[in-house]
Amino acid sequence: MSRFALGVDIGGTKIAVGAVDAAGAVHTRRTIATDAEAGFDAGIARLTRAIDETLAEACVEAAALAGIGLGCPGPFDEASGRIENFYTLPGWEGNDIVTPLADRFGTPVRLINDADAALLGEALAGAAQGARVALMLTVGTGLGGAALIDGVILRGAANEHPEIGHLIVDPTGPECYCGGRGCLESLAAGPALARAGAEFGYADAEAVFAAAEAGAAPAQAIVGRSADAMETAVWSLIHSFLPEVILIGGGMGERHFALYREAAERAIARAVLAPAGAIRVVKAALGNDAGMVGAAALMLDDA
Ligand SMILES: [Zn+2]
Repeated sequence: MSRFALGVDIGGTKIAVGAVDAAGAVHTRRTIATDAEAGFDAGIARLTRAIDETLAEACVEAAALAGIGLGCPGPFDEASGRIENFYTLPGWEGNDIVTPLADRFGTPVRLINDADAALLGEALAGAAQGARVALMLTVGTGLGGAALIDGVILRGAANEHPEIGHLIVDPTGPECYCGGRGCLESLAAGPALARAGAEFGYADAEAVFAAAEAGAAPAQAIVGRSADAMETAVWSLIHSFLPEVILIGGGMGERHFALYREAAERAIARAVLAPAGAIRVVKAALGNDAGMVGAAALMLDDA
C-alpha cells in the first residue's frame, strides 16, 4: 500500500487539507475557512476536525502517516513551530501550531513556507517536473516566491526562505510590513489591488479585474500597475537566477494568468543577456493543490 502524508495548505482566507500519496495524488480532502481573526484555538479546533475527517474518509490511521506537513505563509519559527505572521494570519502570531497537532495525531509535524511547498508540489507532480532551475510566484492574498536550484528548494542564511515577493520594484511605492517600499507584494498582490480599487468604489481585487475587462479606465490602470510590477520583478529574477521555467500560481495568479504571463514575457523578450528561448513562463499545474501536495511531499521525503 502506498505511503500517505497529510498536506495542509494554510492561506489567508482558507485552509486546504488533503491525504496525499507518494506520487503526489490527493485521495481525500477538506477545505475550511482560515478565519484567523476568530483566534488560534478556534482555528486549531477546526483544523483538527478537518484532519480527522480527511483521514477517516481515506481510511488512513494517523499513526500510519509519514507525517503532517503544514504549508504556511512566513515568517514562522520552524524549530518552535511558532507562527510569526501577523499580516495574513492576524490572531495566530506567537502561537505554536506544530506541538498541538503532533500531540493529537502522534505523527511528525513540520512547517514549510507556503511558497516553497507549492514549488515542491509542482516539482513532484506538476509543471516544474524535471526542471533543474525553477522559480514560482504565487499571487493571491500575498505574493510568495520560491526557487528550486538543482532540484532542491533554495534555503538561505539561517536556513531561511528567501522572500522573493519582497523584491523592490518601485522605491517610491507604498510601505510594506517587510520594511521596504514598493515591493512586488505591496504592488501586485490582492490587497494592493483591493486598496487601490476601494478609492473608486470597487469591492475587492476581483471587482477591479472585472471592471478592467469591462473597459473602466481607473481599474485598467490598477491592473496595469500590478502587471508592471510583475514585469519589473521578473526582470530582476531572470538576471539573478536564469530559471528554465517560471511558474505562476496562486488564486489570482491563475485566474489572471494571461496578464502575468504577458508581463513576464515582456521582461524576458527584452533581456538581451538571457539566452533566447530558454526561459518558459507556465501556469502552475496543480492549482490550489500545489501547497498541500508539496507540504505532504516534505513529510514523504523525510520518511
Ligand atoms: Zn514587502
